[in-house]
Order: sequence, then C-alpha cells, then structure tokens
Amino acid sequence: METNTVWDVIVVGGGPAGMISAGRAAENGARVLLIEKNETLGKKLLITGGGRCNVTNSEFDVRKFLEKFKDDGKFLFSAFSQHGVKDSLDFFHDRGMETKVENELRTFPVSDRSQSVLDVLVQYMRDGGVEILSNSPVSGIAVEDAKNDNDAAGKKIVGIILKNKKVLRAKNIIIATGGASAPETGSTGDGFAWLKDIGHTIITPTPSLVPVAIKDKWVESLAGISLTDIKISVFQNGKKQFFKKGKILFTHVGISGPTILNMSRDIGDLLKYGPVTIYLDILPSEDNGTLNTKLQELFKEHDKKKFRNAIANIVPAKLAPVIVDLSLIDPEKECNSITREERIRLINLLKNIPMEADKLLGTDKAIITNGGVVLDEVDFKTMSSRLFPNLYLIGDILNIDRPSGGFSLQICWTTGYVAGNSAGRPAEDSAGHRAGSPTATKSLKKS
Ligand SMILES: Cc1cc2nc3c(=O)[nH]c(=O)nc-3n(C[C@H](O)[C@H](O)[C@H](O)COP(=O)(O)OP(=O)(O)OC[C@H]3O[C@@H](n4cnc5c(N)ncnc54)[C@H](O)[C@@H]3O)c2cc1C
Repeated sequence: METNTVWDVIVVGGGPAGMISAGRAAENGARVLLIEKNETLGKKLLITGGGRCNVTNSEFDVRKFLEKFKDDGKFLFSAFSQHGVKDSLDFFHDRGMETKVENELRTFPVSDRSQSVLDVLVQYMRDGGVEILSNSPVSGIAVEDAKNDNDAAGKKIVGIILKNKKVLRAKNIIIATGGASAPETGSTGDGFAWLKDIGHTIITPTPSLVPVAIKDKWVESLAGISLTDIKISVFQNGKKQFFKKGKILFTHVGISGPTILNMSRDIGDLLKYGPVTIYLDILPSEDNGTLNTKLQELFKEHDKKKFRNAIANIVPAKLAPVIVDLSLIDPEKECNSITREERIRLINLLKNIPMEADKLLGTDKAIITNGGVVLDEVDFKTMSSRLFPNLYLIGDILNIDRPSGGFSLQICWTTGYVAGNSAGRPAEDSAGHRAGSPTATKSLKKS
C-alpha cells in the first residue's frame, strides 16, 4: 500500500457502523479506505441475535422509536430524519435481503443468518470500490499543528497511525471501533483512549444489557432452557420493585434472554443496596383458582403416578425436577395422596419460583457497554466531532444508552450512513459543515 496517498475518507473499524459508512462515502464518489484489525470483518455482527442478527426494530414512527432512548432520543432526530428504520430496511431489501418481523417488532433476515447482513455490507463496499486493509490494528489518530484557528487548540487531524507506526493520511476520518463488550470479537475499546488523547470526554464504559448471575445452584441444571411468556418480578426487602413479561434463558451461571437483558441495569442498581430476589411466574395467564382446579384434575387423572412423573404434564420436562425439589413434596409420593396443603404450596411455587440475584456479569458477557464519547461533543446532523470537524464518530463508540431489540444496530445504520454521507461528500458540498461552520471548535460547549 502506498503510504503517501491522501484518502478522502479513512474508516477505522470493520463492524456494522464502519462498513455502512465506508460504503456510503464511496457511493458518494469518495476514495475510501477501511481499516480492520481482525483478519475478517464484522466478527461481532456475526454473533448478534444468537447468530440470526436482530437487524433493527420495525417501529417506523420515529418518535415512538426514539422514546426508547434517554431524553426521548431528541439528540437522534436529525440523524434519523436523514436515515431511519424504513431507510435501513429498504437498504437491505433493495440488495436482496428480505426480513421478517418477530415479537416486539424485532426484525431478522428471512435467512435467520447474520451472514446475510454481512454479505450485503461487504457487497455495498465492493460496489463503491472501498479498499480494505485487514489484519491492521490502528494505534492512534495522527494530529498536526493547524494554521486554521477553527481547529481544536490549534491542532488538526491528518490521518491515523497504524500499530507498525506508519501514518495513513486522509481528509476525513471515521472512528467506528465499537464499545468494549465481547472483546474477543475485536471490540476492545481502543478508540476511547485515542479520542481522550485528542481532547474528547469519554464516559468510562460499563456493561449494559448483561446476563444476571444467580446464587441458586439449581439454575445450572437448566442451562440452555428458555421459558417464554412468563412474568418476571423483582423484589427487594420484601417489596416488589418492578416486573416484565417475556422470555428467560437459563445459562450455566444465571439468567439471560432479551427480557432479562433489558431488566439488567435496574437489577444492577438494586444490588448496590442489598439482596435482590427474582420471582418467576411460569403460568401467568392462570390465576390461583384455575391452577388449583387444573392440579386437582391432573392428580385425579394420574392418581397412581408418582408426583415427580405427573408434574411434567404441567411444566417443561427439564424444569420438573427443579419444581419437585423446591416444592418439598416427596417425589415418590403417589398423586392421590398429595395433601391440600402441599397442593397450595405447589401453586404458590409455580406462580413464584424464587431465585437470588448474585451480580451482573462483566463486560465480556455484555451485549453493549454504556459509556463512550459524550453526546454534546458530536454534531448529529453529520456525526462529526465538534472538536475536529473532519473527524466522525459512529456506532458503539458513542455514549448512547439503549434497550435490546435491534436498537443498537439501527444506531449503527443511522449514524454510519449519515457520517459516510457527510464525510464522503465532494469538498464543495461538505464545506458548509466543516471548518468555519457553527459546528466547528469555537461553538463547542464543554460539559
Ligand atoms: C452477543 C451479542 C449479541 C448482540 N445482538 C444484537 C442484536 O441482535 N441486535 C442489535 O441491534 N445489537 C446486537 N448486539 C450489539 C451490536 O453487536 C453492537 O451494537 C454493534 O456491533 C456495534 O457496531 P460497531 O460497528 O459500532 O462496533 P463493532 O461491531 O464492535 O465493530 C468494531 C470493529 O472495530 C475493530 N477495531 C477495534 N479496534 C480497532 C483497532 N485498534 N484497529 C482496527 N480495528 C479495530 C474491531 O475489530 C471491530 O471489527 C449484540 C452484541 C453482542 C455482544
């Protein structure tokens, strides 16, 4: 690679945000280089949604979509008005990737494979002629003294520095190195340190949307099992704090799944103040009376069967031994000799299976990290830095708190597309938002 080339745009990070931004900049006619430290692109993208990729959330009403974000996502309006959920879906559909909508508007490729999403992005970059430099860790942003006083503290960004010390120069740099969750995929938070070095404010990343470790050992026996349509209630000091209905997935050490991930931050907050008990109602549509009748009928029908065998008719087979244990009813007892008291105890258990939260798991197990570049240092009309107008910040590098359900990837599509669009515009078009514009350094209000 010639190192004296000055690229129009260099994108650092070959995740979803980086790839769509590179493709869009190239589509605008820019000469684009995308640099990725891994051998392959989109390692994290491939594990999203359990390998199926929850590519977005099909809420087309932008206000309703943004309500899921802090402060009703007001900061995101300008970016979403340029590229929203519908635009992202059109983008994939136009390139032959059909999608389907599942519960809570979670949207997946019809193929049920994340690879389909990656294929579209790679082809998009290929069509635009994006050059890709893989196996190439970047170690920092190249900054020089500036002659123009619109540049932050007399400095301007001229390119990036590779780990092997080579400097690659570009007119515009897009940082898309992601957050710090699932570091084995390459997202080790490298970009945060570089951005801090050049004056950006970084909120230290903490795990968000993360599984919850459970103290009760029986949970381990259910690893891999999921229960749908259950009610999950969270208690502290005997008082109900909040509840959600949805799905739970048991793991070797605790509980996960979309509903738990979305509850995890609040559970983590409660854990700071003392023990937290989580109750599962595995039959939320049955009240105690109906359940009593159901159990009476079950025990009558299977009167000679042992309790441990009969119970599997009413709960999932793998859960049955746990229920038997927790019910304190003799597993060998014949159904016809189960007492009324035991039946009432069983009803209470099925409506309130207790488990004690231990802690939230760490960054390595988190779906996303909260933290990153503070939002008032970014102009969401272009996704450019308010410190350096030719620097663009997208995807998980930004401090955007969001729920599970396709919202993270939609942020990547929107911020990536807008950044690529701005950074890749021919110089005469883009001049308006670069040096000398109201978004440049002088207007930056540091918090
Ligand atoms: C298990 C799991 C499941 C998920 N499922 C979903 C889901 O279904 N739906 C959803 O919306 N979100 C999901 N997410 C979140 C989603 O994956 C992220 O929000 C998204 O990948 C962020 O994209 P990004 O492009 O900002 O960063 P990343 O995907 O993290 O990509 C950053 C890229 O930059 C590269 N890089 C980092 N440092 C350097 C460096 N120094 N030099 C060069 N390259 C570098 C990395 O190798 C990486 O390829 C999931 C996350 C996890 C962990």
